[in-house]
Amino acid sequence: MKRYHWDIYAILEAPQELYFGHEVEINVNRVETVTLEGPEGKVVKPYFSPTKRRGVERRTLLWAPHRDGKTLGEHLECGIPGTCARMEPEDGKPACPICRVFGALRPGEKTVIGRLTHGGGVAIQTLEPQEKQRAMHPSDLARSGSEQENPTPFRREYNQPGLYYPVYNHALSVSEEEFAAAAYAFLNALPRVGAGNPKGARILSDEEFGPYLVLDRYLVPKGARPIISPHQTTIEPALAGFRQAAQQVRGASVENGRAEDPYFTRWVGEAASAELERLAQQFADAYLV
Ligand SMILES: [Zn+2]
Repeated sequence: MKRYHWDIYAILEAPQELYFGHEVEINVNRVETVTLEGPEGKVVKPYFSPTKRRGVERRTLLWAPHRDGKTLGEHLECGIPGTCARMEPEDGKPACPICRVFGALRPGEKTVIGRLTHGGGVAIQTLEPQEKQRAMHPSDLARSGSEQENPTPFRREYNQPGLYYPVYNHALSVSEEEFAAAAYAFLNALPRVGAGNPKGARILSDEEFGPYLVLDRYLVPKGARPIISPHQTTIEPALAGFRQAAQQVRGASVENGRAEDPYFTRWVGEAASAELERLAQQFADAYLV
């Protein structure tokens, strides 16, 4: 079983408002933001935290449809927070493709550190979250008219539509078969990101560059890493920086979206998309269909 390091670099675009639960203040559900100190002073940015993305990815795998009519999590007897932690076949049950990559915790027994980590999430734009009045929860509506206290309408902050979130996933020393679970999770989590409704993001794409997506598989890192500085607040230079880094591989040139030497392979744009889909299908063949 040959192991590699793997990195996914992408820019996600939210086609509608998104809510990422953070904290509840009096009657308002706040979204998560980060505050940066830059050359032009303090800047507040919307934040799609990597831990939330990781949670959605893990659930995407747990809820994947298994051929026996159960979800994959039910089939494997793996869940959240009750992870199965089966790194090897055990008691007649298969090793868990989810715990092997995402890690697992069996309270009091064993902890397995995940080999997939998530980064990025600081939006490029500085657009402030917007607060909106939301319909009351049905349980509150049912209560109104009774003798009890009046229900409080709830307000919720949303991140504005059209925000760009650079995101990065890194897998440490995993085989292609193991990384296939991460590829499946990354692609299938996209329509499901966000808490409540609405949900979903897409990989930003333009006609010239295609999808803003880079996939690296390597023993030795040889490409410029297309990471956007959180201080960058202007869209076009940020995207140009991503495109430029994506094309920059030491000792090899990117041709037809791919650069390769014996230690490093990079897929860019449409080619990266196709490779991730191929890996996701490999996961489906092994565990779902
Ligand atoms: Zn498991």
